[in-house]
Amino acid sequence: MTGNRQVRLAARPQGRPQDSDFEVTEEPVAEPEDGHFVVRIEFISLDPAMRGWMNDSPSYIPPVALGEVMRAGAAGTVVASGHPGFAEGDHVSGAFGVQQYAVSDGRGAVKIDLEVAAMPVHLGALGLTGMTAYFGLLDVGRPEPGQTVVVSGAAGAVGSAVGQIAKLKGCRAVGIAGGEDKCRHVVEELGFHACIDYKGSDVRTALREHAADGVDVYFDNVGNPILDAVLTRLARHARVVICGAISQYNAGKVAGPSNYMNLLVRRARMEGFVVFDFADRYPQAAAEIGRWMAEGTFRSHEDVVPASVDAFPDVLGRLFDGDNVGKLVMEVQH
Ligand code: NAP
Repeated sequence: MTGNRQVRLAARPQGRPQDSDFEVTEEPVAEPEDGHFVVRIEFISLDPAMRGWMNDSPSYIPPVALGEVMRAGAAGTVVASGHPGFAEGDHVSGAFGVQQYAVSDGRGAVKIDLEVAAMPVHLGALGLTGMTAYFGLLDVGRPEPGQTVVVSGAAGAVGSAVGQIAKLKGCRAVGIAGGEDKCRHVVEELGFHACIDYKGSDVRTALREHAADGVDVYFDNVGNPILDAVLTRLARHARVVICGAISQYNAGKVAGPSNYMNLLVRRARMEGFVVFDFADRYPQAAAEIGRWMAEGTFRSHEDVVPASVDAFPDVLGRLFDGDNVGKLVMEVQH
């Protein structure tokens, strides 16, 4: 084994993360102590939530400390082990961080089966992304057959899964995404009933056509101003699922919705969730999504970027530029 390149948080970003907010360090790859294993990281998951973890403010998870290796989900192969549950050659995923090798005591790490799907899929549809879509839609959104589900970030990792699950559950799936190409992908490749290009059309007007009877479930990945537009088109007893608000993550001050009184008028509810609260049911969701994939009724799409860990800030920036289609994953160059 050679050295281990690691990306550490060096400063709390103001606005969009810059190269100068990170420091790349290199140290020898550690030998595992008893009860630990070393994983050679092959793929790193890029998530909008990473931006929030860089802030020194209370959240559902502690912030990444200055000087600490940047937190990230990742997948790779065990190359040395003193852990009874993990052997050399096992494929694993876990919160291994933005680095080439990680030492783990096994907590939060799971073995993954490459016969079932390739490594990036275990970070996407069969990983936390799929779990987020599944539980956020089904447990929080509670769609019923025949209802209209609208999801923003529809060409992205979570959004593309939400629309497909909605359709599998007998709903009308309407996506909102940036650009004609993404909307074409959402309808033609993923099978959504319709997709609104928020960059080329007015969302509120387009919803009149594509959700003529109102929006029963709105799964929000992006926040304002799209959230505000959808709030004007809610059906009675609608559910607004607050999954994320990527449009606000680099803003100093979050712009909240001003049309929230429609929740009252429409007897609707708005509810946030954190996927970790469903951890004990991940196997159930992964089994169902895996079955849909095997049947060919659910498509996972990964946007794999081969890069050195040094390029982490640039690759992360693709999420904020909307450059990704599907699950954004870095293929780590060693
Ligand atoms: P993603 O959708 O694959 O990527 C982000 C997408 O957001 C971009 O491709 C871009 O698509 C869109 N976007 C960026 N800036 C935007 C803006 N200003 N306005 C509108 N859209 C914008 O990312 P993901 O990993 O699937 O995450 C989606 C959301 O789920 C995020 O908000 C994330 O924080 C949240 N999440 C929540 C949980 C939870 O437990 N609650 C867990 C995982 C993820 P366009 O080109 O279409 O603009």
